[in-house]
Amino acid sequence: MSRSSVAWYAAAPAVALPAGHVLVADELVWPDGRVTACSAAPMAAGALSATGHRVVTGPVRLLKEREGAGSGLQAAVARTAASPDRAGEAVGTEGSDGAAVLVAASDAGLRPVVEAAVDSWAQVMGPRAVLLASPRSFCAGVERAIDVVEALLKQHGSGGRRVFVRKQIVHNTHVIADLIGRGAVFVEELDEVPEGALVVFSAHGVSPQVRVEAARRDLTVVDATCPLVTKVHAEARRFAERGSSIVLIGHAGHEEVEGTYGEAPDATVVVGSAQDIAGLELPDPSKVTYLTQTTLAVAETRETIAALKERFPQARGPGSEDICYATTNRQHALQAVTEQADLVLVLGSENSSNSVRLVELARKAGTPAHLIEDASHIRPDWLRDVATVGLSAGASAPPALVQETLAALAGLGPLAVEERITTTEDTYFAPPAAVRKNR
Ligand code: SF4
Repeated sequence: MSRSSVAWYAAAPAVALPAGHVLVADELVWPDGRVTACSAAPMAAGALSATGHRVVTGPVRLLKEREGAGSGLQAAVARTAASPDRAGEAVGTEGSDGAAVLVAASDAGLRPVVEAAVDSWAQVMGPRAVLLASPRSFCAGVERAIDVVEALLKQHGSGGRRVFVRKQIVHNTHVIADLIGRGAVFVEELDEVPEGALVVFSAHGVSPQVRVEAARRDLTVVDATCPLVTKVHAEARRFAERGSSIVLIGHAGHEEVEGTYGEAPDATVVVGSAQDIAGLELPDPSKVTYLTQTTLAVAETRETIAALKERFPQARGPGSEDICYATTNRQHALQAVTEQADLVLVLGSENSSNSVRLVELARKAGTPAHLIEDASHIRPDWLRDVATVGLSAGASAPPALVQETLAALAGLGPLAVEERITTTEDTYFAPPAAVRKNR
């Protein structure tokens, strides 16, 4: 599918290029003055950084084409022609309106790096389609939790009360970095928070033990727990009061599971999969209930529940499923694009349970899939022979990352984007009273 060519140029960067660094252009000015935006730059820079190279990004002016590498700043440019019917144009023709990837270095020792990097992107340049799964990205619980921190930062302003947040408010590194930049202070445990301070509990919820500790330290608590997680906590308390054993299906160690488990630790046992059911010993097989983490794979969880019911026929679950609407909707939407995609990309962080489940789902369907924090995590070899990319984002991944990823892919050639909507979402959770009354 590649319709690209590679040429070497003498070049002048608009940014300083320290010794030992590689330069990736985010904009190219061709010798005749025409300009090409290199929107694939985050991918090219990310791939080089991942292999240990120090990378600078900025605009580059091309001076003249040369036969192979010479002295001074050497820029290798992979480019596509403006349109497919012009694809046969001479290598390196200046002024093309097509896509371009430029990597440069002035250090002769880095020339092989430059050449290999540009070649790897040249091989995957050309037209491509993206099937955009919908719904994707932020859910109502994540929006509410982020809103809580933002509202408190606004209320307390600079020089006011500090806003502490226990654990990541939602599992996404971009969201956390943004809130840190605005003044939020993230801590792992409450003993890192000064007595009497203001602290936010994350969307994943906390155990009653954490609430007791907060009260003991006289902390002002604003609870950003997703209402759908709070519902599971209430079910755990109800089941435990009835004297039932609670089988909590989820990932041991995940914050949400720790919080729910803490509601009834003496009555609860955590199981990860159907395989764990065989070895389960419960005090009274006639009093067994189950709950699930909200962000599990729907199909796998059904298998685990079926195995539980086979072993304990009287096992009872909650009135309605614990796997939340957002997790379910994102999985259905991904399924709708996976079959026709050669590659699936899911935006999300590694500790985001629902994002990881999306990647697993695509792989189970036989489509290669990768979890990416952002476009800089895309590698050229993933895109080889890929005509159609399925793209989604976990419930904690900001929508802007999807747009940035589309822009980066469009930097490799014409991109046809088709949105596949399986359902629409209008769920809204009102903010907690402590935030509402100060608005
Ligand atoms: Fe709430 Fe589901 Fe979003 Fe988690 S993924 S915050 S449970 S809506």
